[in-house]
Amino acid sequence: MPNRYLIANWKMNLPPEGVESYLANLSGADPRDVALVVAPPFPFLRQVVQCGEGTCVAAQNCSDHVSGAFTGEVSPGMIRECGADYVILGHSERRTLFSESDALVARKLALAIESGLAPVLCIGEDVRVRDTGHVAHFLADQIKAAAVDALEQVEEIVLAYEPIWAIGTGRNASGAMVAETLVGIRHAIERFWPARLAETRILYGGSVSPDNVDDLVAHGTIDGFLVGGASLDSRKFLAIHAGMR
Ligand code: PEP
Repeated sequence: MPNRYLIANWKMNLPPEGVESYLANLSGADPRDVALVVAPPFPFLRQVVQCGEGTCVAAQNCSDHVSGAFTGEVSPGMIRECGADYVILGHSERRTLFSESDALVARKLALAIESGLAPVLCIGEDVRVRDTGHVAHFLADQIKAAAVDALEQVEEIVLAYEPIWAIGTGRNASGAMVAETLVGIRHAIERFWPARLAETRILYGGSVSPDNVDDLVAHGTIDGFLVGGASLDSRKFLAIHAGMR
């Protein structure tokens, strides 16, 4: 299991510089102890697997079914066949725009693990929860809901703390705020997940950019970043990587 991760979530976008030159730029980076992971839209998984030297590949979602009459869905087994190693699950855009419940995310999580994918599970509160001071409780509930039996056998799982109010808004959480929130997340992992997962890596996501990475890493508790907007430009993504020191 890598010590730290830097994940590029392209969402339903492609890098303006082109997939191949983006990946060529990334291949020049010295990864140190940071796993570089690129999550393209489904049709580009194979291309990223084939061209991405030294980069790991993630899907942005998967079905909770193995196969069958589920038009438009993609199973974790198919993602694995494309050569991807990771799958992002429970992203707030899936939860809010596509009404994914905790229960559905848990079913996807179980099947992804059984299919040999390493899940990147996203959790995060909205601004109402943040403002009413119930963040730790809300996140603990999301972690508890993800406590599927398959966690007993998972080899690698990553948690991404992504406050909804910080995603794509340009308003990132401060390093101090993330550090404080991560204490509660760590506590919930210890409480609800198998003891062997106590060291689960916890990433932060939400408007991460080369400008705020210093503040975010300064507290020393974040194990990496899940980056949306700034990941579409390889120079910005690499600048965040450089900022992880
Ligand atoms: C994300 O897509 O998970 C994300 C954090 O996006 P952004 O960096 O654009 O806020």
